[in-house]
Amino acid sequence: MSQVYNFSAGPAMLPKQVLQLMQAELLEYGSAKASVMEISHRGADFMALAQKSEQNLRDLMNIPDHYKVLFMQGGASSQFSMVPINLLRGKTKANYTHTGHWSKKAIAEAQRYCSVNICTDSSDNKYTDIADFECWNIDEDGAYLHYTPNETIAGLEFDYTPEVGMPLVADMSSSILSREIDVSKYGVIYAGAQKNIGIAGLSIIIVREDLIGNVVQNQPILFDYATQANNDSMYNTPSTYPWYVASRVFEWLKEQGGLSAMAKINERKAKTLYKAIDGSDFYLNPVTKRYRSWMNVPFLLANEDLNPFFLEKAANNGLITLKGHRSLGGMRASIYNAMPQEGIDQLVAFMQDFEKENG
Ligand SMILES: *Cc1c(COP(=O)(O)O)cnc(C)c1O
Repeated sequence: MSQVYNFSAGPAMLPKQVLQLMQAELLEYGSAKASVMEISHRGADFMALAQKSEQNLRDLMNIPDHYKVLFMQGGASSQFSMVPINLLRGKTKANYTHTGHWSKKAIAEAQRYCSVNICTDSSDNKYTDIADFECWNIDEDGAYLHYTPNETIAGLEFDYTPEVGMPLVADMSSSILSREIDVSKYGVIYAGAQKNIGIAGLSIIIVREDLIGNVVQNQPILFDYATQANNDSMYNTPSTYPWYVASRVFEWLKEQGGLSAMAKINERKAKTLYKAIDGSDFYLNPVTKRYRSWMNVPFLLANEDLNPFFLEKAANNGLITLKGHRSLGGMRASIYNAMPQEGIDQLVAFMQDFEKENG
């Protein structure tokens, strides 16, 4: 098979070593004499996997002991409702930043449970900039503040963690594990797995213990963080295979040197690509430099008529899934942890050749 670099936004590229391990272990897992897909989640083999994967994630992210780590189904989108259900704790208001497509969806869901105060709104600038924190309008009576550290579609990423006097909730679906963060600054961190953790079907929730156990009445038992926390994420059958893949990705990340090493690699990858975009009038990225994402790099061709030709030629050169989100058009290169520097270098070389031929 020839080398292909997959720039898909999610489900996304996995590290090759992890895919090879999945292949090698597919039929027989450990001492189980069966595939990891075929064994009980309560058996010794899977329980050991679950414990070790949680420990590895705790090591990687330096998660303090007073936080629970939950491995759930339902994707990041189910957290859009679980967050208000669990964190309102008798209050009627919550603060949300509106910085892109995903925060907009989180807001729409929260509005079904409470009054949402939008503390900053980037829709006026088409999600290319974030207002200075000092100018945000934060309602002190809000139960929490929810934000999206990396907006996957417009490629808009915070370069700091907002510090507020209420629990901070972060949808880290497209940026978790891409660099070091201080978990103790957060009340809840959640992420769907299919971008930077593994494959679809799993979401990971990191929640401060004192925020658990005050769920709104008459909501599904499964949607109570306490149900998951008190049952080691095994109240019902968890997503065993996605959990297994996540465990292999965590091990791979440790082998790479952990998140400080990943941050250096990711920063270099992003800089290489933005430099190529900025260095030409043929390509364009409209996001304010400070808030440009390390993980999702949208770019436009000055001549949009060339889009289909660009995508076709790129794919013929082994650079696949570069089509931009339908709301933005153009291209988007999603360059999560699994994308090596070589993939970026090949993309940049292709972009320069394409410009020479068509510019
Ligand atoms: C992809 C994505 C989601 C949606 O994730 P699902 O697991 O499909 O529900 C939510 N938020 C962000 C920031 C995303 O990138």
